[in-house]
Amino acid sequence: MTGSAPVTQLDDVRALVSALDLPATATPDELAARLSTVRRRPIQIQPYPPNIVAEARRTGEPLPYGVWVSGAATDFIFFREDTTHSHRRHIVLHEVGHIVCRHVGDDAGEADSGEPDHATITRAVKRAGGFAADQEQAAETFAYLIERHTRPNLSATGETPAARYRLLED
Ligand SMILES: [Zn+2]
Repeated sequence: MTGSAPVTQLDDVRALVSALDLPATATPDELAARLSTVRRRPIQIQPYPPNIVAEARRTGEPLPYGVWVSGAATDFIFFREDTTHSHRRHIVLHEVGHIVCRHVGDDAGEADSGEPDHATITRAVKRAGGFAADQEQAAETFAYLIERHTRPNLSATGETPAARYRLLED
């Protein structure tokens, strides 16, 4: 993983995934742990804070299923809990894809690895969907390749990548 240009070519995404040399049993958390080591920059995966969820309910504006917030020293992924385990997993892998492919995330601009505050997460939520189409496709390909690698029987569930893609809002 060298250079700093965003990865958008599908062959490059493929090369990136195979370079990870991920065990076939790896969970998204194990993937994040491995990436944290490789990149020397932690990835923290967690549900949206309750106050963000409450605000979305109050305003009637649904939260994206997942967002990435890039802090000064840590990358944060926030996800919605009100969906299936399988969908959640895919959302997280998709956001990890954006991170690994160096797409431009919302910069929390913090001086430490402290958690992003309410305003920062809200800003990231509002910007979700701001990725270029080729970056969305690269993140989706990343998620698909990781799932195919770590869950080879996935097709038996009837969940095609196309069907899953339609579920994604960001
Ligand atoms: Zn995306």
